[in-house]
Amino acid sequence: MLRLNKLTKTYKTGDQALKAIDLEIPEGQVMALIGPSGAGKSTMIRCINRLVEPTEGEVWLAGTELTHLGASALRQARREMGMIFQEYALVERLTVMENVLSGRLGYVGFWRSFLRRYPQSDVDEAFRLLDRVGLLHMADKRADELSGGQRQRVGIARALIQNPKLLLVDEPTASLDPKTSRQIMRLICELCRERGLAAIINIHDVALAQMFVQRVVGLRFGAIEFDGAPDNLTPDV
Ligand code: ADP
Ligand code: ADP
Repeated sequence: MLRLNKLTKTYKTGDQALKAIDLEIPEGQVMALIGPSGAGKSTMIRCINRLVEPTEGEVWLAGTELTHLGASALRQARREMGMIFQEYALVERLTVMENVLSGRLGYVGFWRSFLRRYPQSDVDEAFRLLDRVGLLHMADKRADELSGGQRQRVGIARALIQNPKLLLVDEPTASLDPKTSRQIMRLICELCRERGLAAIINIHDVALAQMFVQRVVGLRFGAIEFDGAPDNLTPDV
């Protein structure tokens, strides 16, 4: 599903955020990416969708190499990748429903969605997703009226309405309390299983990763230093 070949990112400042990363994620696998702050986790996620341009190496998603794509092919490829963010990135003055629907155009082009009328099938799917994430009763509320956990549920529904092949999840629980964090992680992992979705979840709470995923990749100084079942993690990772 996703393969990284010697993926490398050196920032202009000289920071070597990723050093020739090789990684493969099969279809339907949910993987947690852990490691200390500055290890390169966000950089890896952003290189995959090219919010950051990799310095070297390849990113293969379902048979397409992404690092050489031009703008319009890249836009197309990004629709196959659902993004979920730490700070939710909702449009505050739009409703829950409108925020979910905005996902139909993919993350990067989301502002254009305001100009567009959605087909009934999209609206039906948005209602189904809102029901699944437990927010059907809030469809008409404005995003700025929601709690953190509710906002992240909207973020999840917005990512899924794209019908992506891969979910890229960047610190989904960093702004949430422990109980809400567990609920959100459980929801993301259940939805991946239901839909056969592959996911990379960047998370620095190791205990939370151990609770919900079968594969953990540990990054340190831009290199993989652990890859395996969470039970085999040593406490100091
Ligand atoms: P994280 O929570 O992923 O560790 P940071 O708080 O380190 O993120 O960084 C926040 C933002 O600042 C990100 O957009 C990141 O790309 C950027 N950033 C991080 N380190 C540097 C740096 N050394 N120089 C410039 N920008 C940086
Ligand atoms: P993590 O997500 O694991 O905290 P990051 O990917 O944010 O790690 O950062 C990895 C390294 O790259 C750090 O040394 C950080 O300072 C650096 N870095 C991140 N973003 C930028 C940026 N925009 N410009 C320069 N350096 C950056």
